[in-house]
Amino acid sequence: MSLPADGTSKASEGEGRKNGGYWPVFWLLIPMLLLFLQSLFLSSHVASLPYSEFKQLLHAGKVKEITLDDMTINGILKADGLERILSAPSFEQLKCSTESDCAFTTVRVSDPTLVSELEAGGVRFVGQFKNPWLSSLLIWILPILIFLSLSSLFAKRAGMSSGWLFDVGKSRARVYVASKTSISFDDVAGIDEAKDELMEIVEFLKTPERYRRLGGKIPKGVLIVGAPGTGKTLLAKAVAGEAGVPFFSISGSEFVEMFVGVGAARVRDLFAQAQEKAPCIIFIDELDALGRARGVAGSFSGYNEQEQTLNQLLVEMDGFESNSGVIILAATNRPEILDPALLRPGRFDRHIALDRPDLNGRKKILAVHAKKVSLSPQVDLATIAARTAGFAGADLANLINEAALLAARRGKYGVEPDDIDEAIDRQIAGLQKKTRVMNKLEKETVAYHEAGHALIAEFRPHADRVSKISIIPRGIAALGYTQQLPTEDRYLLKKSELLDRLDVLLGGRVAEELVFGDVSTGVQNDLQLATDMVRHMVTQYGMSEELGLASFDGPAALLHTARTFTEKYTYSERTAQSIDAEIKQSLDLAHERVTQTLLQKRPLLDALAQTLLIQETLDRAGLDAVLRKVPT
Ligand code: ADP
Ligand code: ZN
Repeated sequence: MSLPADGTSKASEGEGRKNGGYWPVFWLLIPMLLLFLQSLFLSSHVASLPYSEFKQLLHAGKVKEITLDDMTINGILKADGLERILSAPSFEQLKCSTESDCAFTTVRVSDPTLVSELEAGGVRFVGQFKNPWLSSLLIWILPILIFLSLSSLFAKRAGMSSGWLFDVGKSRARVYVASKTSISFDDVAGIDEAKDELMEIVEFLKTPERYRRLGGKIPKGVLIVGAPGTGKTLLAKAVAGEAGVPFFSISGSEFVEMFVGVGAARVRDLFAQAQEKAPCIIFIDELDALGRARGVAGSFSGYNEQEQTLNQLLVEMDGFESNSGVIILAATNRPEILDPALLRPGRFDRHIALDRPDLNGRKKILAVHAKKVSLSPQVDLATIAARTAGFAGADLANLINEAALLAARRGKYGVEPDDIDEAIDRQIAGLQKKTRVMNKLEKETVAYHEAGHALIAEFRPHADRVSKISIIPRGIAALGYTQQLPTEDRYLLKKSELLDRLDVLLGGRVAEELVFGDVSTGVQNDLQLATDMVRHMVTQYGMSEELGLASFDGPAALLHTARTFTEKYTYSERTAQSIDAEIKQSLDLAHERVTQTLLQKRPLLDALAQTLLIQETLDRAGLDAVLRKVPT
């Protein structure tokens, strides 16, 4: 999502390209115009006579000399005494200067006696072989050119390609000269963690030699993940601006063309350009448009094209040294559909997640954008921040802009609180249509749900420590999240650890039950994870007393090997029933344990949820503060 300010510049770029699409037609018009002018020019000097009149003149001995080819006769008449012979209109056409002769042309008709008549009249005549090249060139090539330019014009109108066919394969990456990218980290607010992570890259781009000397490995590709309008593009530009390096920006969808191979050629071209300008940054927006996982869709041509383009991107990324000074930043809001090959080491192996800003972040972003307009002193940014939960950075920028427009329309000199209020209302109405703003009850539910997860994690000895709790939606599915450290994969887990993890998963659901006496759909993912975990404990890890040490191949394995239906289960129907019973029992037991804990910690649960409702995100220190405040 982009701001009006940003939007206008994009629009003008688009406009420029659109005009570019008309150029070929224009170039075609030039020769046609020349031909037209030539014919005008000729016709003004050469009269075309009917063949009968030509014969008349010939018999009257007025023809001085002629040149014949297959189709025409061009000639010169003796000027004197023509009036008497010619009928009036044709004579008018002959523009003869008095002393010189008059030129004429006529269409040759089949006339076998012509030559003998010419000889009899003593007329000098020259046969001419007319080279058919030029005319056939015009007859064949011109329509083709016209067709091509028209079709690419229409293709462009339909948004299918760059327009002009000869443009094919030429990257339209635009070069942002360093001095023009004046965006710095100061313009990016509320995402300090992301800035910290990118600082290393800025340092590298500033002094690549230093890093090269030390042989340090710098990431080639960084993937910025976040909802629309969370500042992904802004952040990438800021990295370029901070480092003072050129910024190549292209959108993934621009690579997807109707012709196979064009996208791949563009990728090649882009990387070649970038390597010339190194150190520099390549920014690929909407990476998912070209980086969608291969081998999922059917194999119609557009799909193959996308696959080829993606392959080329992978080749290019592998092809240059990470120390060469080209850094690729990419943005997406759908990391889950990306081809796993893109995320392997040496490619986009670093990920930066941008969330919608929390209360504090919103205040900072508002401050950045408020600098650009004149605010009346009554406007309090903290109040605005409190009222704009769920807004992304772009929404906030829009809000300030809208308020300024309203104030201007009302003839004010500064933006006042009521302008802001109205702008917020408008913005919220717009966002609600996109269902991005939660109502109060939803927010409360999410707050208690996440507080439940967090508290259970806190009071289970084998659970990972909570590092962050948030009720700000991340991604499409989750409404909030509780982050635990360490987040990396573990390969060996004890039963006690698994059970504690199970409890944490159920914490959200149980909290909702206790507080609201009702449950929501927000738990679907938790329950699925919990059930999968228990199923594995029972069927794979031999952790169930009832079933003992046996390991059972379940339908989960079936997904990966193509077995027939009869081979589906390696165990009896009765065992299947015991497995189901075991799973249910384990889940019930966990549910009971978690309920006990949360009942006991209810004051803490309330305190944590209320704090979350106000602050929206809590880091470790914030959580500790709540834990200290409420005696347990
Ligand atoms: P994305 O690429 O994630 O869709 P953009 O980077 O295009 O979002 O953001 C659009 C605009 O929103 C930016 O130009 C900027 O004005 C504003 N914006 C977004 N995030 C922030 C932020 N963290 N700080 C300041 N402004 C922001
Ligand atoms: Zn949950």
